[in-house]
Amino acid sequence: MSKKVSTKAPVTQVNVVIVGAGFGGLCMAIRLREQGNDDFVVLEKAGEVGGAWYFNGYPGAGCDVQSHLYSYSFAGKPDWSKRYAPQQEIEQYILDVTEQYGLRPFIRFRQEVNTAHFDAATARWTLHTAQGDTFVCRHFVLASGPLHVPNIPAIQGLSDFQGKVMHSAEWDHDYDLAGKRVISIGTGGSAIQYCPEIAPVVKSLSVFQRTPAWVVPRDERGYPGISKALFRRFPSLRRLHRARLYWSNESRVMPASSPRAARVLEALCRAFIRFQVRDRQLARALTPDYAFGCKRVLISNKWYPMFNRDNVSLVTAGIREVRAHSVVTDDGLEHPADCLILGTGFVVDPRIYMKDFPLTGLPGHELTKDWAEAAEAYYGVTVSGYPNLYMLVGPNTGLGHNSILFMIECQVNYILQCMRLLKAEEADYLDVKPAAQRAFNDAVQRRLQGTTWTSGCTSWYQQADGRNVALWPGATWRYWLETRRVCSTDYEFVSLEEIQQQGAA
Ligand SMILES: Cc1cc2nc3c(=O)[nH]c(=O)nc-3n(C[C@H](O)[C@H](O)[C@H](O)COP(=O)(O)OP(=O)(O)OC[C@H]3O[C@@H](n4cnc5c(N)ncnc54)[C@H](O)[C@@H]3O)c2cc1C
Repeated sequence: MSKKVSTKAPVTQVNVVIVGAGFGGLCMAIRLREQGNDDFVVLEKAGEVGGAWYFNGYPGAGCDVQSHLYSYSFAGKPDWSKRYAPQQEIEQYILDVTEQYGLRPFIRFRQEVNTAHFDAATARWTLHTAQGDTFVCRHFVLASGPLHVPNIPAIQGLSDFQGKVMHSAEWDHDYDLAGKRVISIGTGGSAIQYCPEIAPVVKSLSVFQRTPAWVVPRDERGYPGISKALFRRFPSLRRLHRARLYWSNESRVMPASSPRAARVLEALCRAFIRFQVRDRQLARALTPDYAFGCKRVLISNKWYPMFNRDNVSLVTAGIREVRAHSVVTDDGLEHPADCLILGTGFVVDPRIYMKDFPLTGLPGHELTKDWAEAAEAYYGVTVSGYPNLYMLVGPNTGLGHNSILFMIECQVNYILQCMRLLKAEEADYLDVKPAAQRAFNDAVQRRLQGTTWTSGCTSWYQQADGRNVALWPGATWRYWLETRRVCSTDYEFVSLEEIQQQGAA
């Protein structure tokens, strides 16, 4: 168990440190406990568990993956209220799971990791937190989340705005929007959820759109009491339902990765927009000019009809500057506002979101330098030069078509195997071979070629040079198949004792 060795500047020695108490970090913690390993801590910068579902409590927040699938396979919930649960229900699920698996004693809240360093002489990671604590561990699991650093756009004059400014992930529920002139910037996943909710309340809502999103209908059906009762009484029925959802989502990977199939869906979506938006010109402005699936496809039944309201307008001109009480667009028009809502998403470059702190591995390895061109890992989990470091939802393991929890569970399984292998090999650390990592990433980039995701739009899946470092390029069952067993020959196992003996000889 963890023990403190100093009271002045506390140093905690543990076997495993997990950073982040979202779905990823908690999954890792549960599976460690299941394996009989209680020698770990979870460091979480927030004051509560939940990650994305703790921070994003804006009006209308909800999941776009079906709840029976967007939950752990080992912790099914028979009574999800509807196909796509709202944020509050997902947050409650995470809180319940935390209690159910007795995780609270292992979590250190308000501990933000701000440096991590691997010492090859001791084969230990040393992590420092902003609060002045130090943690030393053998295994370091980075579950810091793909979407948790708010993206604040560099708009001239933004800091001079005299009204209210808030990012969707930092919603101020004490601020009363009733009767206010609101400008919402961005038309991504969050904006399409909160805009329809606030539109009936505010005096006016101007939606500033740079690029329209493809938005498809959302299945709003609730689960009737009888379904919930059956799912509770017969867990295999629930699992069957989950499997059906999984395979129906998985079937979407073909249109998502094939531009030709995407064109059929595009035609259906165009009809959907025309049907939902009365004004022809407005409908055209809301219709994307890039391939369906190139950017994340969003789901909503409320987004398009919202534009039929008299108090809602769409602004497609770029933003020139923000003034004390208005926003000026490139066409010279001044839009007065009391409140600016930044629906501008998150920093999605793994070089920043995985860690916005210095992280050094074996001599000569500094992650910001190794990832200077692009973030690269082996199956998004291990990185050459950084022994015993594991990532959850690392580079190229995000999804556009299915539940990220499926990927997280595959990754946790992979990490546990790595830990077992290390023990079996009686080694102190394992390090993925550079050649294995290179071959994997070359294959990923090859597989991405010719898919909808590289069909020419600018999306958050890509970094500035167009390289896609966010998405897993294909079926998730294939990821499961490839990560089911760790290929030990792809790793170097290092024993400190052997090194010492070689040094002495
Ligand atoms: C608004 C929103 C809607 C979403 N909707 C969907 C959806 O519908 N479907 C879907 O599949 N995915 C969705 N996602 C993506 C979502 O991020 C993942 O589904 C999932 O939550 C990832 O879990 P995670 O544990 O990896 O990351 P997170 O949930 O982001 O948790 C990471 C945790 O790490 C903590 N942390 C980060 N850095 C540090 C540090 N240095 N020190 C200590 N703690 C740290 C953070 O505070 C956070 O609690 C959504 C995300 C957002 C923001």
